[in-house]
Amino acid sequence: MSKLVQGYEVVIGFETHAQLSTNSKIFSRAPTAFGAEANTQACAVDMALPGTLPVMNIGAVERAIEFGLAINAHIAERSIFARKNYFYPDLPKGYQISQFEIPVVQGGEVSFFLEVGKETVRKTVRLERAHLEEDAGKSLHEDFIGQSGIDLNRAGTPLLEIVTQPDMRSSEEAVAYAKELHKIVTWIGICDGNMQEGSFRCDANVSVRKPGGSLGTRREIKNLNSFKFMQQAIDYEVRWQIDQIEDGHTIQQATVLFDPDTGETRAMRTKEDAADYRYFPDPDLPPLVIGRDWVERVKGEMAELPRVMAERFVQDYALPEYDATQLTQSKAVAAYFEATAKACGQAKLASNWIMGEVSRRLNASEMAIEQAPVSAAQLAALIGRISDNTISNNAARQVFEGLWNGEGEVDAIIEAKGLKQMNDTGELEKIIDEVLAANPKNVEEFKAGNAKALNGLVGPIMKASKGKANPAQVNELLKRALFA
Ligand code: ADP
Ligand code: MG
Repeated sequence: MSKLVQGYEVVIGFETHAQLSTNSKIFSRAPTAFGAEANTQACAVDMALPGTLPVMNIGAVERAIEFGLAINAHIAERSIFARKNYFYPDLPKGYQISQFEIPVVQGGEVSFFLEVGKETVRKTVRLERAHLEEDAGKSLHEDFIGQSGIDLNRAGTPLLEIVTQPDMRSSEEAVAYAKELHKIVTWIGICDGNMQEGSFRCDANVSVRKPGGSLGTRREIKNLNSFKFMQQAIDYEVRWQIDQIEDGHTIQQATVLFDPDTGETRAMRTKEDAADYRYFPDPDLPPLVIGRDWVERVKGEMAELPRVMAERFVQDYALPEYDATQLTQSKAVAAYFEATAKACGQAKLASNWIMGEVSRRLNASEMAIEQAPVSAAQLAALIGRISDNTISNNAARQVFEGLWNGEGEVDAIIEAKGLKQMNDTGELEKIIDEVLAANPKNVEEFKAGNAKALNGLVGPIMKASKGKANPAQVNELLKRALFA
């Protein structure tokens, strides 16, 4: 499945920081809301004042359990918090509380569909782990002349760091993985997914190798906060690494930043090793113990997961797997589909319309399905009028347009635009007789055995009916008239 770039295989692994949607911080009671005035949401614990101690936020643990269940991972019964030591102005304790040797979520996988040429293939990315940790504060270099400001509002914000195996083989796969992961965390509601505000940040580890060779040295692109930049950054990095190798250089392990203005990645620092951080278990926090009963309770309270819902769509509505996956991109899309399918009883048609016309219009106007001006009930009514032969597919698109523009209900629009199919045999037979009389040459050719001459007759008939004739009925009546 690997796509080679200039004869090299691309290898990518992701580390994603998902900010957990708790109201308070992971080890303190300070609020986590975004956008507050600097340092108004940092309490004594977040500021690391002497004598303060961390207290685990159960809500953060519960969200980690939900994530583990969503990706079929093992949830450790006993995991350990560790201190990751480094000096930086926005880290007042001088260490970050994280998990190192024994993370709370272990293994699991994320799978998704990917378009490869004309084919749709399923790809599965194995996860290595997901661990709980706290975010650091933020250094502000603007507005301070010759100095830097520190905002500790974000210090202690709960994060789940989600680490994959190096399983991705192209920037397209990497972006598809990131989108799927984003879908999972927002679907189960553990993260708001807001990439601009930094609630979902991805680091892409990228290396290249000759096919079949051992893994190349990786460089880590930090903090990719849009899917578009993610693709650009990885594509640039891959070309850069290949150029280096082709020029006889070796790749040095490094942490790099992507600059959206230049479209280039640039080294920020040489990569630290785990040893540089002098990890050790945090003596202020006991091991995190998660009993089976807790996991079972969380499982019982969780909403239907996207992949489970997709399987149900395949079973209950006889949809192809691809449709089912597309329709479970978000809860809102899935709900819209189910409401439409139930109301019209034509699941596949509902799916076609939602993946086709509805999403085209939504994309064009950059709207979410919640804002769609056409309700599920209206779409179902429209589909009903196609299947009872009141309107043709072509006419249905015009009705849809009318619905979208708020011109009224389905039947009223059909009426107003005069789109009703001509199902009246008498009227149609009259048109057919007229067209046959006006085109004797085609009639003669057809009778002489040229089947294609029929097309020369169908066109004028459809035209004379102003497109309202039912094509199947035209064919039927036309043949009857010709063989009469
Ligand atoms: P570190 O501890 O330095 O962060 P990890 O072993 O945890 O390193 O790996 C971090 C990420 O890098 C993981 O997602 C992993 O899959 C990925 N990775 C490891 N080796 C490579 C490689 N050679 N090429 C691309 N990605 C890699
Ligand atoms: Mg790591």
